[in-house]
This record gives sequence, C-alpha cells and structure tokens, in this order.
Amino acid sequence: MSLSYRVLRQKLLMAKVRLEAVTRRFENVTAIEDITFEVPDGEFWVLVGPSGCGKSTIMRTIAGLESVSSGKIYLDDILVNEIPARQRDVAMVFQNYALYPHMTVAENLAFGLQMRKIDKETIAKRIEIVARSLDIAHLLNRKPKQLSGGQQQRVALGRAIARQPKVFLLDEPLSNLDAQLRDDTRAELKRLHAQVGITTIYVTHDQVEAMTLGDRLVVLERGRIQQVGRPQDVYAYPANLMVATFLGSPPMNILPASCINDKFMVCDNLLPIPEEMYKKIQPSAGEGFNLGIRPENIWARSSESGENLGKLSIEVELVEPLGRETLVRGKLPNSEVRVNFIAPASWQESPGSHVAIQLDLDKLFVFDPSSGKTVYP
Ligand code: ATP
Repeated sequence: MSLSYRVLRQKLLMAKVRLEAVTRRFENVTAIEDITFEVPDGEFWVLVGPSGCGKSTIMRTIAGLESVSSGKIYLDDILVNEIPARQRDVAMVFQNYALYPHMTVAENLAFGLQMRKIDKETIAKRIEIVARSLDIAHLLNRKPKQLSGGQQQRVALGRAIARQPKVFLLDEPLSNLDAQLRDDTRAELKRLHAQVGITTIYVTHDQVEAMTLGDRLVVLERGRIQQVGRPQDVYAYPANLMVATFLGSPPMNILPASCINDKFMVCDNLLPIPEEMYKKIQPSAGEGFNLGIRPENIWARSSESGENLGKLSIEVELVEPLGRETLVRGKLPNSEVRVNFIAPASWQESPGSHVAIQLDLDKLFVFDPSSGKTVYP
C-alpha cells in the first residue's frame, strides 16, 4: 500500500498556502477578519472553533468559491485572488460527499480527470492506485447508495486524491460517521497524510479531531484568529480564556478569584499563590482574576502532599462513571461556580455530598477577567 502511495506522491506537486489579512464581509456580517497564516508545503493544518467562527468561509475563499472583501491569498507564492476555482488546483471534500449518485464508484473517481481531458490510460492507472490504497477496489462497480458512510467517505477522498491536487481542503469530512467509524477514519486520514504528504487544511469543531490530526492548529472565534500553534503548545499555553476552555475534554474549570495578600480568594476558599506566579502577575489588593485549572490537575482526595496544593470544598452534583475513571461534576457551595474533575473508577461519593478536592497550583492558569488574555503562565 505505501509503495503505491510513494509512486503517486512522486508525481504530486505540493504547495504552500498563504493568507494575508483576509477579510470577508456579507452585507453587515463580517464572517472572517484579518486572517493571516501560512501553511508550509506538505503540512496538515486544522482550522478549529465553534459554529459560525468562519472556518468554512476561510476554506471557500482558498478554494475560490468565495471572493474576499480584502486581503490576499497565495498558492505557492502566486496571488490567486482573481484566479477562478477550477484553475486553482485545490481539491475540496465536504461534509456531504457529493458523490454523483447515478455513477459507479469508478465513474465517480474518473469524472474529474475526464473533465480535465486526462488520457484514459492515466485515468485507469490513477484509479487503480487510489482504489487499492484506500481499500475500495472491491467497490468500483457499486453506486454510492450501495456503500456505507465510511466507504462513501473514502471514495470522496479517493476522488480528491486521484485528481492529484496541490492542496486538499477537507471541511468536516467525518461528521456523518458514527463514533467508531469516525475514530477509524481519523486514524486512516492521519496515515494517509503521512504517506501522501499533500498540503492539507482541515476544518472541524471537534477539538479531539483537531488535537490528534493537526501539525498546527488555527483556533478561531467570531471570525478572528485566536491562536496558531502546535496542538500540544496551544493546549499547554493557550493565549486566552476562549482557547483554554475550547481545547480539552472535559474543559478547563474557570474560578473567579480576587487577591488577598499572597492568596487567591475563590468564593470562601483561600488558595496560596505560588511564588513564581505571584512575581509574574504582581497582584494589587482586591484585584480580580479568572483562574483556570484542567480537570486532570485536580485530585479527588486530600492525601496528596506537596508544596503547591490548594484545597477546595465542593458539592457533588453529578457522578458519571466512564469505566476507566469517573467524571465528577460539582460546584462550590452557595455559588454557581462549576468544578469538574476526574476521580478514580472506584470513587464512591454521591450527588449532594460535600467533598474536599486538591488543586495542583503549579498548573493554574490566570486570565485577565476583562480581556480574557492569559496572564500566567
Ligand atoms: P459551522 O461550524 O457552523 O459550519 P463556520 O465556522 O464554518 O460554522 P461560516 O460558515 O464560515 O462558519 O460562517 C461564518 C459567519 O459568516 C457566520 O456568522 C455566518 O452566518 C456568516 N455567513 C457565512 N456565509 C454567509 C453568507 N453567504 N451570507 C451571510 N452571512 C454568511
């Protein structure tokens, strides 16, 4: 399988994609604003963010299906703003695969190539390689409705690969699949990219897909880039509260706090501020912050020992056994501040009980409550 891919790969022209200050407005809606990033040759980048943040609009402007209001788009250093979609040499796979229902799989794979007037022999060769590589060779004579969702998805990808585009644009290509198939196809996509190495931009609102697939993430909200970086860096050093709470499942807990001397006051609890953090944020008396703590940095027991641990008392609201571990949802008593954490599978408390938990204070994030920007670390 990998040999076939290598043969294919040698023929592929790879490309980098650059957006410079791209903005797209629709009457009074600004769908995307001042979008700037560059995807190097052969990398897999993921655009991620909540619904309506502008992911699809970015893809459509790169594909040439949407014009830009201002800014520049380059494919391999060539300005393509005025170049029509058909001539941009990018292949897009959407959530709905848009396979031609009256054509067989083989005809679907061949169609784009025939339109480009590629000779029959080359078409047959490409279909053979792609079909073998994607394990759809046995489906070539079937019509799309005779295929499962996962098979259709592979045909749609195969059709894009057979075209040998410079760039792949994949817009939520897995969202029609059930959970298991989604996991499998995600892994297959990752393998595929490692083998074919075509520059790929992938859109998802699923943070697990984003974290697992991307060489780099572009996190978006309300049409603007919030952060660009490697998944592990964006997770460890989120630029702001939006990024911090968007990546991670269950999400980061946010605790409103104010400073009293060298302590944070969180509802009625006092948490010592670690020295390094104190030096960095230099809080004034009474200053307010939002503290962030990921569920994996909270312990459901009070026996941990260590220098920088903070204790909170919480009221258990919901206990969700996940098999390997238990997800506990609680809140600080007499408040609406929610705290979720992971407890061992054997955890026995029930809703309504009050328990002490411990926070690894070295893993605390501190956010400016008005701008949302990360002030620590
Ligand atoms: P989703 O994840 O729900 O698909 P998205 O992140 O892909 O969302 P876009 O589809 O790019 O978001 O839309 C971004 C914003 O632009 C939204 O507010 C949307 O309503 C608006 N928008 C997109 N296309 C148009 C259009 N043709 N006319 C008016 N507004 C539009």
